[in-house]
Amino acid sequence: MMVHDLRAPLTVISTNFKILSARGDDLPPEMRQRFVANTHLAIDRMTTLLDDMLAVSKIESGALSLRFENISLADFLRGHLEFFEGQAQESEIHCVLDCPPDLSARFDPSLMGRVIENLISNAFKYTPKGGAIKVAASADGRGVRFSVRDSGSGIPDEYRQHIFERYFQVPDQVDRKGAGLGLTFCRLVVEAHGGRIWVEDAAGGGSNFMIWLPR
Ligand code: ADP
Repeated sequence: MMVHDLRAPLTVISTNFKILSARGDDLPPEMRQRFVANTHLAIDRMTTLLDDMLAVSKIESGALSLRFENISLADFLRGHLEFFEGQAQESEIHCVLDCPPDLSARFDPSLMGRVIENLISNAFKYTPKGGAIKVAASADGRGVRFSVRDSGSGIPDEYRQHIFERYFQVPDQVDRKGAGLGLTFCRLVVEAHGGRIWVEDAAGGGSNFMIWLPR
């Protein structure tokens, strides 16, 4: 299935490249630009697919070792949320961070950073213009709880338990750039830390992705 997924963008790249090199100069400028833009999109899609496949297979084969560090959560989360500032402005989505300034936890900041960015990126994907995204962290028993909440489409009940499975995408909501591996990656990283990830309905609509990590 993954090989099949990789063939489609590769075909787009190779066809567009053939057209552009054979008769690019004869094409109307708008059409040439469209071919170039579509080629870039196909390259992005292949890159995302390959990155996701490599990350998941590396974790599953045990080749990934965690580098634990003591992390101040407010700075950590602010940094990852600020990464999406341009997207927030463009889509007029209001982003909020809610984290006590003195809260810290011990985890691999590079891997957990990718987890948080995956969740925020999904929140942007499924939240319409003018919506809201809230990233929060709090102490919870002997651990720490993270949440990424959006005011988007939410996840139908019948699919909620499947979204963390490999290659699963909610029908009619398929992101053509992904392969249903983003949340699998998140789950594997969180479980490698001895934690748990799940999703709840957000009050007022949307999804609330939650992570619990031991401290
Ligand atoms: P992909 O890597 O293809 O984006 P993911 O593993 O990240 O897939 O997500 C699996 C499915 O879960 C997506 O197809 C989407 O339907 C659903 N999903 C993930 N995040 C959200 C969200 N914040 N709101 C609504 N649906 C979501």
